[in-house]
Parts: sequence; structure tokens; C-alpha cells
Amino acid sequence: MHFGVMILDYKCIKCGSEKYIVKTVFLPEKEPGIKLELGKYYFKTCIQCGFTEVYNAKIIDDNKQLTPKFL
Ligand SMILES: [Zn+2]
Repeated sequence: MHFGVMILDYKCIKCGSEKYIVKTVFLPEKEPGIKLELGKYYFKTCIQCGFTEVYNAKIIDDNKQLTPKFL
């Protein structure tokens, strides 16, 4: 686990703080017929009040790609 540097426009909906930390977390995902896989998520935590938002890293990372990696 490490502290990421993901930059997103952010204002805490609880306290309005713009200060937060991001952690990358791997969680087990189970889909029918597919064996257990680890899904990558970003946990974004407000450092003022502790409110945490969770983002699916696959989607965030995909949105950063301007050109598709795969055809
Ligand atoms: Zn907050």
C-alpha cells in the first residue's frame, strides 16, 4: 500500500476541505464463473474529517488514456 498522487478536483462533501490523501487498495472480486481476482481501487480520504470515497481504479485509469491500448 502506498500514498498515491492521483489528482482530482475534490472538495469534501462533509466538511468542504480540499485536503485529502489517496491510497491504492486491492480488494478481492468474485464474479460468477470467474475465479477470484483482485480489483484495484483508490481510497480517497479527507484528512480533516476522515470521509472516504472509493473509486474503481480501472475506470479512473482508463479515463486517463487518450488512445486505447487494445483494439
Ligand atoms: Zn471532510
